[in-house]
Amino acid sequence: MPEQREPFNIELKIGGRRLRLEGAVPAGPLSMADLLPLIQRLADAVGEVAAQEVEARGKKIACRAGCGACCRQLVPVSEPEALYLSQRVDAMPAERRDRIRGRFARGLEELDRRGMLEALRGAAGVRDREARRAFGEAYFRLGIPCPFLEDESCGIHPHRPISCREYLVTSSPADCADPVGRRVETVTLPRRVSSILYRFGDGAGGDSARWLPMILALAWAQEHRDSPLPTCPGPELFENFIRRLASG
Ligand code: SF4
Repeated sequence: MPEQREPFNIELKIGGRRLRLEGAVPAGPLSMADLLPLIQRLADAVGEVAAQEVEARGKKIACRAGCGACCRQLVPVSEPEALYLSQRVDAMPAERRDRIRGRFARGLEELDRRGMLEALRGAAGVRDREARRAFGEAYFRLGIPCPFLEDESCGIHPHRPISCREYLVTSSPADCADPVGRRVETVTLPRRVSSILYRFGDGAGGDSARWLPMILALAWAQEHRDSPLPTCPGPELFENFIRRLASG
C-alpha cells in the first residue's frame, strides 16, 4: 500500500522576508531522524533568506563546493542527526562505508592520544561561552578533518548536518583556515534551525538542548541502537517544529 502523505504549504515571515515551503509529510509515526530531510530543507530555506539579506547589503556568501576550510571544526549534531548519519553510512557500498568508519575511528584515536576524548564527550555540557570557544579552538588546532571530507569537498553534501548548512561566511575562505578566525565574517541567521532541533530529542521539542560533536556520531548511534527515538504522527511532529521556528 502506498505511504499516506499529508501535503503542506507554509509561509513564514522570518528576518523581514517570506519563507515559503511546500511538500508532503508522511502521515504515519515518524521520529525526528525520519523527519530530517524536511528539516534540512527548512534550514536551507532559512539560509537562503539570510543570503538574500547579505546580498541586499552588497556582500556575497563565499562558501562554495570544494572548500573544506571549516570542515576541521568541532561540528555539533543533534542526536537524531547522529542516528541519521549512521544510517547513511550503513547504506553506503562496503568499500566507502569502511573508509568512512575508518576515518571516524582514527579521529577518535587521535583525540584520545591528545587527551581530548573525555572532554569531547562532555562538550555539550560546557555552558560558559568563553570555555566553549576555547575548547572549539583547541579542537580546530588538532586539524582532524571531518570523516566525510573528501578532496576538500563534503562527501555527504545532501545529508550534511544542519550546523554545516548554517555556517555561512562572507569573508575569504582562507580566513576560515585560521583556528582563531579573527577575520571570519559569519552570517547571522534570522533563526537557527539547529538550536530548535537540539531540543527535539524527545520528539516534542520540550527537551533540554542535546547535541554531540560529529566525530562521536557513529559511536553514539551504536551505543543507542537499542533505544529508538520517540515517534509521533509525521504532520504533528512537523507542525510542532514549524511552530517553534515561527516563534523564534
Ligand atoms: S559534514 Fe560535510 S560540510 Fe559538514 S564538516 Fe563534514 S565535510 Fe564539512
